[in-house]
Order: sequence, then C-alpha cells, then structure tokens
Amino acid sequence: MTAAVEHQSSAPSTEGLVVLKGVNKYFGAMHALKDINLSIKRGEVVVVIGPSGSGKSTLCRTINRLETISDGEILIDGQQLPQEGKALAGLRAEVGMVFQSFNLFAHKTILENVTLGPIKVRKQKKEEAEKHAMELLERVGVAAQAQKYPAQLSGGQQQRVAIARALAMEPKVMLFDEPTSALDPEMIKEVLDVMVDLAKQGMTMVVVTHEMGFARTAGDRVIFMADGAIVEENSPEEFFTNPQSDRAKDFLGKIL
Ligand code: ADP
Ligand code: MG
Repeated sequence: MTAAVEHQSSAPSTEGLVVLKGVNKYFGAMHALKDINLSIKRGEVVVVIGPSGSGKSTLCRTINRLETISDGEILIDGQQLPQEGKALAGLRAEVGMVFQSFNLFAHKTILENVTLGPIKVRKQKKEEAEKHAMELLERVGVAAQAQKYPAQLSGGQQQRVAIARALAMEPKVMLFDEPTSALDPEMIKEVLDVMVDLAKQGMTMVVVTHEMGFARTAGDRVIFMADGAIVEENSPEEFFTNPQSDRAKDFLGKIL
C-alpha cells in the first residue's frame, strides 16, 4: 500500500516546511548528529527509524530547539529558529512534540493540560481555549475524561491527551518520538489510529517509530539513521521490502 495517503498541499511554496541544512550536534566529544540535510514538505509524513543511540531523539529535539545545534541551520516555514528568548517560545509553539513518556502535568486536569499553552503562549481567552480543547479531546476520543487527572487515565488515553495538547497550539508540524513504545500492546492501536487520522488530514509529521504498519499506512518516506547520520531514505514499501544498506538490513532483521 504505497503512498496510500495523498496529501493536499496548501502552500504555494515548494520550499520544505521543515528544512535542516548541514546540521551537526555534539554532546562533548560525542558526535550525535552528522551533517543532517533534510527537507520535509508541507503535509509530508516522515518516519524515522534506526537503532537505539542513532540520534533519532536528538533529531526531534533539535527541530524544536530543546537542544541547540553545534552548526548548520534549521528552518521552520522559511524562518530560522532563534536560539533563545521570546521569539523561540513563539516559534517553538509551531512545532508540536509528543514524547515516549506522556509528560502531562499531574496536578492539572485533562482539560487544563490542553488549555494551558493556548492561554499562556497564544494568549487565548479561557472560554475560547476550552471550547477548542474540548473539540480536540473529542477528536482523540477522550472528551469524557476532561475533568479527570492524568493518573486516572490509561497510558493510551494519556498519550492521546498529549497529542490533543500539542494540537491545541495549532502547530505547523508535529514531532512524535516513539509515542507508543511505553504503551501496553492493547493501547498502541488507539494512539496510532489518531496519528493516522492526523496524517490523512494533512498534518506535517516526523514520527520516530518502529511500527511498520503505521509507516506503511501513513508514511510518505522512511529515513533510516545509524550513528548520527541518515544512512538510507526511501518509500516505506521499498525500505521494508528492499533495504539497501547493510546497516538497514541488519536492523530490520532484528526488529521484524
Ligand atoms: P536515539 O533516540 O536514536 O536512541 P539519541 O538521540 O537519544 O538516540 O542519542 C544519540 C546519542 O547521543 C547517544 O549516543 C546518546 O547517548 C547521546 N546523547 C543524547 N542526549 C545526550 C545528552 N543530553 N548528553 C550526552 N549525550 C547525549
Ligand atoms: Mg530516542
């Protein structure tokens, strides 16, 4: 099922929505990202695959500046990400992120978790933020839980709230870093279904996952990383059935 999802391009620009040019990242002597060049089109779903320690999380974290980069540049919708300050908070809001651990605020209700960012960063009125939040909670199937606290929800429900919370900021791109790897097996599908839905609606997404079903259903492109570099890039179908590099063959042999 190659390219099953056709994305609508709403932008006249042919330049990528997320562009990385010659990005390098060091942690001390550790060269975590090696000359990453990547252009992600509006509406494109890029699946990032690779062994543990290959730099997948670091790639996501540099895209929304949770990590600074050592050199190179990162453009979001043509704008260079500032290193710090107010401009960074504003631009970071355009990049939604969902982590492996659910990261919800434990002492806030589900509804408050979703409205906090829009009220604080986007300066929305409470009523407006709540209305939008309820629509999003409805969309991810947890509206009935709005007044509960995170600990009262299952892992799958919490992860769907995390997705709603990121969407509430109306990001231009959504990053998912192994969003289902901390979930019990029976909850993986409910989260992946929400992500497939988002992809179908044209959201630009970078998804670190080894879920081949998701990659094949929703992915436009697979990027295989090893040792901080992009080693291979292909359509999901080609990547899974006909990996080119020894690293990819070896890795797929272990996970499939
Ligand atoms: P992946 O997500 O593919 O498992 P990571 O991006 O987490 O890989 O890590 C890539 C490499 O960078 C690893 O060797 C890891 O130990 C190292 N690394 C990641 N974050 C830090 C950090 N904050 N300080 C030092 N080294 C780090
Ligand atoms: Mg990781």
